Amino acid sequence: MSRTKVRGAGARAPRNRRERKTIAIVGSGFAGSLLARVLAVQGHEVVLLERGTHPRFAIGESSTPLANLSLERLARRYQLDDCYDLAAHGRWVARFPKLRRGLKRGFTFYRHHRGMPFENAGLESERLLVAASPNDGIADTHWLRADVDHHFVREAVAAGVEYLDRVDLTAGDVHSSGVRLTGTRGGAALDLRADFVIDASGPGGFLARQLSIPSQLNRTETRSALVFSHFADVRLMGDVVRGLPEGPYPDDWAAVHHIIDEGWIYSLRFDDGVTSAGFTLSPRGLATMTDSAHASAESLWRTLLARYPTIAAAFERATPLMPLGFRPRIQHRLARAAGPRWVLLPHAYGFVDPLFSTGIAWGLRAIERLALCFDGGRLPSADELARYDKLLGLEADQVDRLVAGAYEAMAHFDLFAAHAMIYFAIVSFAEVRRRLDLDDPATVPWRGFLGVGDPASEPLPRAGLLRLRRITRGAGREGSAADRRGYCDWIAQAIASRNINRFAEQERNNLYPVDLDALVDRHALLGLTRDQLVRALPALRGAPRVPEIPRIPELSPASV
Ligand SMILES: Cc1cc2nc3c(=O)[nH]c(=O)nc-3n(C[C@H](O)[C@H](O)[C@H](O)COP(=O)(O)OP(=O)(O)OC[C@H]3O[C@@H](n4cnc5c(N)ncnc54)[C@H](O)[C@@H]3O)c2cc1C
Repeated sequence: MSRTKVRGAGARAPRNRRERKTIAIVGSGFAGSLLARVLAVQGHEVVLLERGTHPRFAIGESSTPLANLSLERLARRYQLDDCYDLAAHGRWVARFPKLRRGLKRGFTFYRHHRGMPFENAGLESERLLVAASPNDGIADTHWLRADVDHHFVREAVAAGVEYLDRVDLTAGDVHSSGVRLTGTRGGAALDLRADFVIDASGPGGFLARQLSIPSQLNRTETRSALVFSHFADVRLMGDVVRGLPEGPYPDDWAAVHHIIDEGWIYSLRFDDGVTSAGFTLSPRGLATMTDSAHASAESLWRTLLARYPTIAAAFERATPLMPLGFRPRIQHRLARAAGPRWVLLPHAYGFVDPLFSTGIAWGLRAIERLALCFDGGRLPSADELARYDKLLGLEADQVDRLVAGAYEAMAHFDLFAAHAMIYFAIVSFAEVRRRLDLDDPATVPWRGFLGVGDPASEPLPRAGLLRLRRITRGAGREGSAADRRGYCDWIAQAIASRNINRFAEQERNNLYPVDLDALVDRHALLGLTRDQLVRALPALRGAPRVPEIPRIPELSPASV
């Protein structure tokens, strides 16, 4: 057996040796590494097992305000000061200039039509911008996962986690008395005993195989394929389509989504000029490509660019920094997320689609929950595991319905822009409540993600999906103008009790800044008086803690 024990300077003594448990975590993405570190800080003995090595490429890069709030809570609860700094672009750049990341001010969407350049129709353009932050300093980020995941592994080791890479696990036995993991490392046998095992192996599905957890993919409505890479020299949309009306932030410093007939493309710009981009294709979209079953990633990519001149112009000079990848299906979903002595992190349990960037936030929320379950040197109780399992199932369904609805809504941009408001209303309402400390921080981790458990929010994604299917007939039809108007009106009314940012108002022309005046006007939705809300506003601007950090040179649109 080959085992290297690395104790870093930050390692803490267990609070009580007798209470200390041995936890094995399989997979050292950001989620496995961060949870390993938290458990070590709590005093557990943690071994983190990785089949590969760091740094390594990983997909899933765009963070959100809810993700950053989770990072900040973890930072406060377990004194992880780097997590606090990584939760805002300005703090990140100031503290970790070498950890690569990208400025994300919000969510940008364009609708493209086959064979036609994107049309600048002024405020009538098929363009939707939703700001997620009021300035660059407290903005979200795109995580260059090779750097970020490596950082979290190093910090885990420094906190006392035993990290073993290049591990090939061949068996995992979970008994009522404990867990045994066996395999090899560097040609030597590996035989580990633990009190509990956490599967953070993502779609790798280590425990799914070992425990024969059945797939429940049939619960997931969404189906999509993916062609992706990282690129140099992707042009800014602002350079390709000139003269668009000014939005709440420069269009490109965002998670940029290009909606096309076949699905959509994400384009995430890092501050060093690299762009992560991928076409996410619906089954109907993929079927329109020649001989799609056997098509290469390169030919799919070329075919799609040939269909959309403005996207082609943006990628005209772009070069892939690694071979294009193709995955015929990116969804997975298991029937269970937890059981006696084992638990799955969300990405090992299920994945829907990158639309709305839910993965990182969901993973971090699960880390918070599990950390509470292991607090005080104990293992999670059966009730806690059952609660975790149930919540993950409801949340996976919720993400799926929202995203499946969005794919239906892609039939017409009015439908899409309206449907997206379900997401933005739910998450901005949750974010503001958290930032204003209206929810008890001790219970926040167990609140449902994306409106699960909130009677006003939970039914919306499903109701939206069903209404949309009546319009599109599940066949991509765009419906009549009256159908579309009806859907937009329904959305405005359906989100009303959670709509603190004047979403879904026609006069906004699909351009939504962080609107503090609207928030003050809607104070009652948060259960506050106008005065109470006005007094709380600095917490939303980040004013007390976060100095305005000058834009780093490469971010100035003029210099790109
Ligand atoms: C196309 C796409 C785009 C996405 N975009 C976004 C986005 O913009 N925003 C967002 O929030 N989320 C996004 N996601 C979701 C995001 O990728 C995941 O939420 C995130 O990667 C989860 O991180 P993780 O650490 O749990 O797992 P992973 O990143 O999957 O890490 C798993 C680790 O486990 C290791 N491993 C696997 N099997 C074994 C084994 N048998 N033994 C040991 N180690 C093993 C792997 O090598 C890897 O290091 C996207 C997902 C996809 C597919």
